[in-house]
Amino acid sequence: MNKFELTEENYYSSEASQHYMSVSLFKDFMQCEAAALATMKGEWQREETTALSVGNYVHSYFESKEAHQKFIADKGSALMTKPNKKEPYGHLKSDFKTADAMINALKDETVFKALYEPGQKEVIVTGDIYGYKWKGKIDSLNLDQLYFCDLKTVDDIHKKHWSSTYNKYDNFIADRGYYMQMAVYIELIKQTFGVGCQPFIFAVSKQTPPDKEAIDFNGDQDAIYMEDAMRMIEENQEHIQRVMSGEEEPTRCEHCEYCRLTKKIELPIHASDIEIY
Ligand SMILES: [Zn+2]
Repeated sequence: MNKFELTEENYYSSEASQHYMSVSLFKDFMQCEAAALATMKGEWQREETTALSVGNYVHSYFESKEAHQKFIADKGSALMTKPNKKEPYGHLKSDFKTADAMINALKDETVFKALYEPGQKEVIVTGDIYGYKWKGKIDSLNLDQLYFCDLKTVDDIHKKHWSSTYNKYDNFIADRGYYMQMAVYIELIKQTFGVGCQPFIFAVSKQTPPDKEAIDFNGDQDAIYMEDAMRMIEENQEHIQRVMSGEEEPTRCEHCEYCRLTKKIELPIHASDIEIY
């Protein structure tokens, strides 16, 4: 068997993703196998979006002072506007001013402080899900009180997203696969620590002023969505593992960034056959 040991340092490495499946990697494979495989092999990397940086900026603040300072030091000029004569150092980009507003919107909320602050931050959990090893990182885990929290930044908590699976509009929790994330984390915490913990998501929006919400998963429909998400893993991961090991060819989605970049025009297609999404 493999001797790979998962640590803080190698958690996000490509070696780690060869030994452990994660919710984000699984979601990448469900979206486009070709792009996910190319990313995994280090052949291609999606540009880090500002949305992701804003999320990490907010996230690092609530992890610890040190984590936030390190994030700012590592990003350096990427957080600032281009210098000019008037402002030789530039100023904080508007996206990160918004991020500061998001932090301020959450940090003094009583419910947030009571639930998010006491937990242990960035806890690595692992386990076996339908015969394969998975990993996860819990934003804030409270083993004494048996719950965990995840922090999410979002454009608008109430925005609607079309779901082709359910043929209806969904909210951001379903659209971004957070039911899957919570269901997997419950299972990994159970296997790592031997206890059942209930999930909470704290969401904060990029609107001015930011919207904010504490979300639980105790609704009847929430339980169904979480079961559906686990079934989706069960039904798809054999194939994904075979694609990862090279036994099966990856499918191209033909419209993501990677597929557009590597696309070749073959024969003309019929006008009436152009796919719409
Ligand atoms: Zn694609």
